Amino acid sequence: MKQTTSDIVRVRFAPSPTGGLHIGGARTALLNYLFARRAGGKLFLRIEDTDVERALAGAVEALQADLDWLGIRFDDWSDGETLHSQQNLLRQSQRQTRYAQIAAELQSRSATYKCWCPPERLTLLRQNAAQKNLPPRYDKHCLRLTQCEIDEFTALGRPYVVRLKMLDKPVVIDDLFKETVAFAGRNLDDPILIRSDGAATSILAGVVDDHDMGITHILRGEEWLPSTPYQKFIFEALAWPTPCWGHLSMLLDESGRKLSKRIGNATVEEIRVAGVLPQALCRYIAGLGRGNLKPDAGWTLESLAQDFDAEAYRSGEIIYAHTALLGENQRFIQRLSDRELWDSLASQLIERYPEMRARSDERQVAAIHLGREGAKTTRQIIDNLSCIIERPNLATVDFSLQTRATFVIAAYIDELKNNNSGWDKDVAKRFLENVAVRTGLKGAALFTSLRLTLTGQPHGPKLTDIIGFLGREECLERAKKAIIFLKG
Ligand code: GLU
Ligand code: ZN
Repeated sequence: MKQTTSDIVRVRFAPSPTGGLHIGGARTALLNYLFARRAGGKLFLRIEDTDVERALAGAVEALQADLDWLGIRFDDWSDGETLHSQQNLLRQSQRQTRYAQIAAELQSRSATYKCWCPPERLTLLRQNAAQKNLPPRYDKHCLRLTQCEIDEFTALGRPYVVRLKMLDKPVVIDDLFKETVAFAGRNLDDPILIRSDGAATSILAGVVDDHDMGITHILRGEEWLPSTPYQKFIFEALAWPTPCWGHLSMLLDESGRKLSKRIGNATVEEIRVAGVLPQALCRYIAGLGRGNLKPDAGWTLESLAQDFDAEAYRSGEIIYAHTALLGENQRFIQRLSDRELWDSLASQLIERYPEMRARSDERQVAAIHLGREGAKTTRQIIDNLSCIIERPNLATVDFSLQTRATFVIAAYIDELKNNNSGWDKDVAKRFLENVAVRTGLKGAALFTSLRLTLTGQPHGPKLTDIIGFLGREECLERAKKAIIFLKG
């Protein structure tokens, strides 16, 4: 594998394939992306699938689809070309030979040792520690075995794991987001690097990959901070240059608890289905944990990258609030023209309302105009249109307060039948004015009857917009049905 010698920034996003992207993972991926873009560096995707029991079928594809939807693109780790395809992701499960090679190297440098302790002994150690309220720690028993014992275990072929031989001295991490983090020697364990089945654990695999991929900065969630002293130790034991670490504070939900998948709206998939646009989600999560972005800034990944400042991300509590995300989404929707919204919603709208396909381009865009008012999500835009595009179910419409409804609708039908001039919003408006004159009614007495007739709803977008969108034939059809219903 080619090793980089340049000092260009190289970062990676390294998810485990346990399902689609969680909001915390999306944030880690995005900040890595912005960091790389800002620095003119590279971003790689690595799938940490050594823990095969947890790897879910289809999870890698789900992760990639979510990342793609967010607009996060990865570079090809082997030759530096920008690609977004299967070839550009590195899977740990395919690299066990390389990990074994490095494990042997560590052994030859006396940085590791074999541990033959049976599971029962380790369980006992854990229980003892728990009783004394101490963190579980391996007691280095196997480091004190005699050569005779080692020879015997080896001859017997007893299963063993390989542990890192940590020295009893503090490890200090100069963290990008947290400043200095110090780990006292007495709190450090001798973690397992190679399991009894010969597979590398994520601690070792991560170091080997980060080195081989030439990673310069490791930006990841703070839940990985506990493995950092060990990883740093391995880098040093191998005399490899150490990368710079930055641990991002965990996201909390609005009640201050760790954000979990169970609360809902915590995965990219759920947020997408709820009708949030990727730009709004990216802007919101890029803004978490740093000062507010200027109202006009950061509506594209490019401008978020320009504005990116790693130092602006402080550590500490960070609340992810779905309502705030929806507010961001609403602001983003408001910035888009009817046509831009149509372009991003066309396929969903046609799926929900197949009749939209046959509409003229102008009518399609007009539909967006009708549906968008007050919408916080694209889903609301789509839902708002149901009462306009689909004919009302008259049986559920309450005409009881509209005592003159039949009279109004009949006058409207007359107007529609007798007037054959072209059809646009202005004509639609003139028809309404004519109906007002004919019936001598105005305001709610007139408009609510027509609204109920055409949409089944007492409120909604401007009536002339609705009528203009529906067209003469459809208005006539709905009005006739309403008369039949009211007379029946
Ligand atoms: N594989 C870890 C995860 O699932 C990330 C570890 C790392 O970034 O070093 O989030
Ligand atoms: Zn042991």
